[in-house]
Amino acid sequence: MNFENDERFKGIKPFDQKIWLSSPTMHGDEQRYVDEAIQTNWVSTVGANIDAVEKEMCEYLGCKYAVGLSCGTAALHLATKLAGERLYGQAKPNRGTLEGKKAFCSDMTFDASINPVAYEDGEAVFIDTEPDTWNMDPVALEKAFEFYPDVKLIIVAHLYGTPGKIEEIRKIADAHGALIVEDAAESLGATYKGKETGTFGDYNAISFNGNKIITGSAGGLFIANSKEDADKVRKWSTQSREDAPWYQHEEIGYNYRMSNIIAGVIRGQIPYLDEHIAQKKAIYERYKEGLKDLPVSMNPFNPSLSQPNYWLSCLLIDEDAMAPFVRGENDQLWMSEKGKSSPGEILAALACFGAEGRPIWKPMHMQPIYRTNPFVTVEGNGRARSNAYIEGSGIDVGADIFRRGLCLPSDNKMTAGQQDRIIEIIHRCFL
Ligand SMILES: *Cc1c(COP(=O)(O)O)cnc(C)c1O
Repeated sequence: MNFENDERFKGIKPFDQKIWLSSPTMHGDEQRYVDEAIQTNWVSTVGANIDAVEKEMCEYLGCKYAVGLSCGTAALHLATKLAGERLYGQAKPNRGTLEGKKAFCSDMTFDASINPVAYEDGEAVFIDTEPDTWNMDPVALEKAFEFYPDVKLIIVAHLYGTPGKIEEIRKIADAHGALIVEDAAESLGATYKGKETGTFGDYNAISFNGNKIITGSAGGLFIANSKEDADKVRKWSTQSREDAPWYQHEEIGYNYRMSNIIAGVIRGQIPYLDEHIAQKKAIYERYKEGLKDLPVSMNPFNPSLSQPNYWLSCLLIDEDAMAPFVRGENDQLWMSEKGKSSPGEILAALACFGAEGRPIWKPMHMQPIYRTNPFVTVEGNGRARSNAYIEGSGIDVGADIFRRGLCLPSDNKMTAGQQDRIIEIIHRCFL
């Protein structure tokens, strides 16, 4: 479909330069720290930049220990492995620490949040999403403990930088003696009741991937409050070398430690975290204002409970304003209809004019690799119901948000003028 020849889009010019969903924003200080690492020859996995990143992030977050790792996925893996070891003891060398055990997991998240359960030979039980923040539903989590009372691990993510109901989830975890792995990869700097996300879990993970709110091009942090936990993860991340004159190994190890070069980029970014959050907040508020006359809503949060970092602005189309739209496994079909639109149409229109949006992260229970895993909704066993699921009925909240929602271009270098054009394109989709 060529929107440039579509009457509805008459007079709208394509962007000269692509507007990204969320691209890195460098400030110059990064170069200085990277140069320093190279000039002093501290280019490996030890050095001043790693030390500074760990220390400064602990100060920012108000936590005791941070361990610099190669990426957020590595942080999540070691957090999950550690939780398994603390709960069930050390695994045999060729086995995972969660062998044969279930873990309750956020369903609407990026798969890196929950893949570590599989790496550690456990089974993810997906917990449906609540409509208030698009994160793990505490009511469904309670339900899950009725089905599986022996589960001792909860892995919870804060999607798009909006904190989930982490205090309620903490209460439920404590009542059942369960540990929490908190995935704050997308929510660095977001707070719940004034406390930073990434500090609520027993073990926590942050990401500095290229599209996150600040970036090292790669990199991640494992966050915990005990020295023993931090030391363990640091040891695992450097091939589990024992204190001996030769390579001595008592445990399986990984090459997951952060590089001092990457840490230089992150170190240069940390002073700009609050500035990036302010820019992302302005983008969210401009969309909210600019789209308020359309039958859509923005990704929600409760301002008296949480302060998001506004990493991605998203919108959700009202059910009765959805134009015909169907998705297969790898493709989709949509039709235009007067006064209505669909994520398929809006994303195609934005792409046509040179702006990058993205579908909502497809829920894990809908993913082919996890399709046979248990899935619990507020109504009970979502898996048993999924055949009877009627689109838009709200039974499967995650599937519903995936169907009606989309991520808007949220790059902090986008100008107000460019954003106005994006808002105009979205309006034209509903003509
Ligand atoms: C980006 C992301 C990760 C993974 O972080 P990497 O640094 O890319 O490995 C994990 N969970 C969520 C929710 C993410 O968005």
